[in-house]
Amino acid sequence: MTDNLKNHSQPEARVDLLVIGAGAAGLMAAGQAASKGARVRVLERMDRPARKLRITGKGRCNFTNIADKEPFLKSFQQGDKFLRSSFSRFFNRDLIQFFESIDVPSVEERGGRVFPASQKGQDLVDALVNWCRKQGVQFVTGVRAVSLNLSDQRVTGVVYRPSGIDTSQKDRLQKAKSVLITTGGASYPATGSSGDGYSLAAQAGHGLNSIYPALVPLETGGETASRLQGLSLVNIGCRIYIENTCAAAYFGELLFTHFGVSGPIVLSASALAVKALQAGKEVRLALDFKPALDHKQLDQRLQRDLLNRGRQQMSNLLRGLLPQTLIPVCLEQTGIPPDRTGNRLTAQERKTLRVWLKDFRLEISGHRSFDEAIITAGGIPLKEIDPKTMASKRIKGLYCAGEILDIHADTGGYNLQAAFSTGWTAGRAAAEAIRGKSKLEI
Ligand SMILES: Cc1cc2nc3c(=O)[nH]c(=O)nc-3n(C[C@H](O)[C@H](O)[C@H](O)COP(=O)(O)OP(=O)(O)OC[C@H]3O[C@@H](n4cnc5c(N)ncnc54)[C@H](O)[C@@H]3O)c2cc1C
Repeated sequence: MTDNLKNHSQPEARVDLLVIGAGAAGLMAAGQAASKGARVRVLERMDRPARKLRITGKGRCNFTNIADKEPFLKSFQQGDKFLRSSFSRFFNRDLIQFFESIDVPSVEERGGRVFPASQKGQDLVDALVNWCRKQGVQFVTGVRAVSLNLSDQRVTGVVYRPSGIDTSQKDRLQKAKSVLITTGGASYPATGSSGDGYSLAAQAGHGLNSIYPALVPLETGGETASRLQGLSLVNIGCRIYIENTCAAAYFGELLFTHFGVSGPIVLSASALAVKALQAGKEVRLALDFKPALDHKQLDQRLQRDLLNRGRQQMSNLLRGLLPQTLIPVCLEQTGIPPDRTGNRLTAQERKTLRVWLKDFRLEISGHRSFDEAIITAGGIPLKEIDPKTMASKRIKGLYCAGEILDIHADTGGYNLQAAFSTGWTAGRAAAEAIRGKSKLEI
């Protein structure tokens, strides 16, 4: 026993599976295990389940992506090999069908993103929780798991206490044949996921691959971003340079904020950026405002504009090429006088303008914290978890699923699919293990 029982009130009756955390992974696991006959209880720290799931996809919940398995797996920066096993049993179409079966029809949108047809994440959460209840899952909300009970290399229960009250006098013990940790990562702690699962897993001998915020906005040096605050650019190119080497390229939408940049392409680039910044490396973004044109084509376009509208001042002429708020920044950085007319622009100035349009530099000085990160990169090392069952290789009866694992992907519904699939696998495996065991016991 790792825990001191004398402080505990009467232990609760033993359950087959105790799930810690009612997020995407925990709910799917709990419902699956209960549907296979296991007695399941879920401990949830917040006052109600799935606070994070409710706000995903800006409240619309982009719960999966319709991409085929190989391109789907390519969206994972970490964990693709590990996920193959789970995805081979429960993948995107299975998840869509599952939600359909509990009255949550879905729609597919741009980029293969799948949302509930009602456009409300709340509907999906309500249906999922109701389905769990119908399977017999019991919920205990407003309680925080604080330690595992371990005996002879096996988990035997979980000690928990009311959330927010820091006194061991209130501790309770829930005995369980198996325990699943689905406490999520450390991002958006206001939704309940503040990293508790890492210390619970450490108690069972698990390591931790260092965690850092990913899919997170980036901060820029200088005043350019704050001057452009609120400007959203669509269909632009973006390259990320680490120590002057191009590490990746993206295409899509970017938003300037008071501190720097955000939006889909920045979030995609952020895992690389954060890791490099933490290693003390120099990080730069290079934006391409005209990705559909190569340098030669852009030069021809500029020559045409300068010829056709040669009597206009550059501050006017550039309106055909750039959003209004970018024009003063462009003129300042290229050194082109705003009142210079198009027909008096020198060849050198035209070249400077062309290069600026295709290579607008932003120095990345930092990143926003876990409070604003969509996901947590890093987590429980995958080599310590059986990918076929999500069972711990350290402690018998213990399982881990969802974002607590060292898995992370791009935006587009991939992260939720990973949480649902690993939850599904863990719930089924735990139920099977219990059934197998009770057969043996009989
Ligand atoms: C703003 C935002 C938008 C997002 N949008 C999308 C999207 O559209 N598509 C997508 O694929 N992904 C999206 N994600 C990522 C996705 O939500 C997560 O990857 C996913 O929710 C992880 O699921 P999980 O079950 O592992 O953890 P979580 O959903 O974080 O659930 C963990 C649960 O455990 C509980 N818990 C934590 N500690 C304890 C404890 N000690 N005791 C008891 N309970 C505890 C928490 O309260 C929480 O309910 C988004 C994330 C954020 C923050």
